[in-house]
Amino acid sequence: MRQTSIDDLARFSLELLGLTMTMGAVMVIAAFYTFDGFGLPATRATLLFCLLALFGCALPLQAYAAFRIVQLRRQNRRLHHAATRDGLTQVLNRAAFKQAAEAEIGVFARRRNRDATNYALLILDADHFKKINDRLGHHVGDEALTAIASTLRRSVREDDLVGRLGGEEFAILLKDAGVEEARIVAERLRLAIARVEVGPPDRRTRLSVSTGGVAFRGSVGFQALYRMADANLYEAKRKGRNRVELSRLGSLGRGPTIEGAPVARRQRDGEARRLTAR
Ligand code: GH3
Ligand code: MG
Ligand code: MG
Repeated sequence: MRQTSIDDLARFSLELLGLTMTMGAVMVIAAFYTFDGFGLPATRATLLFCLLALFGCALPLQAYAAFRIVQLRRQNRRLHHAATRDGLTQVLNRAAFKQAAEAEIGVFARRRNRDATNYALLILDADHFKKINDRLGHHVGDEALTAIASTLRRSVREDDLVGRLGGEEFAILLKDAGVEEARIVAERLRLAIARVEVGPPDRRTRLSVSTGGVAFRGSVGFQALYRMADANLYEAKRKGRNRVELSRLGSLGRGPTIEGAPVARRQRDGEARRLTAR
């Protein structure tokens, strides 16, 4: 990113220099025909003055334009950050997470990158979060969400995606992780969050999360993955919370199927949360 900015600036400066030199050359040709050659000393002096004035003006203008470009880039980065981050926790917001995940695993990305990497999508939902808000206040709830987000961000690799899907629900896209690696990571995250405490000193409260996940390989729509991970999350809640339920997705050519996940029951219950519906 930084390198690209420097390259862009260098190209812009060269383009401006090329333009100035072209204008100088046009000026010389025009002077030649206007003054019938460069025989007279006054013609030569005028031309020299004009060329010096042209280059003399072009250089500060070029420096100013470069300065403004750098400023606008910084502003642009800040705006991009504000548009893609969750305001409270600073991880990716829902739209940005979905977009980044689709760019990583979508059909077009997979066509480009044929060496089918393993991925896992994890959905983590804080347990009994409403009670934390009710007992300790919303500000402690917010503190808990921030602590969960920073624990998640710290505990996965730099190029894994971490986002807040909304409320007390987070998502992680693990790259290069098969079902076993994903299980190890999800357990590590669960234990890390179980060590987090929030609230005033006399009422410290431990947090916990339930995790539903799906490990996959090949091109799968994000929406389908989300539904499957969400079905597993529902199962983790049903089995008592503070636990991980993970499946491996098998692609059988007639749409994705999931091994061991209660997708049908989840949908029948009408509880599958739609990502786009929010
Ligand atoms: P479960 O274990 O089944 O997930 O129970 P839960 O209480 O975590 O789930 P429920 O959906 O009943 O409640 C979620 C709560 O999360 C309700 C809402 O007030 C709270 N919440 C959502 N967003 C925020 C937020 O930004 N800040 C705070 N403090 N609370 C939030
Ligand atoms: Mg919850
Ligand atoms: Mg929830």
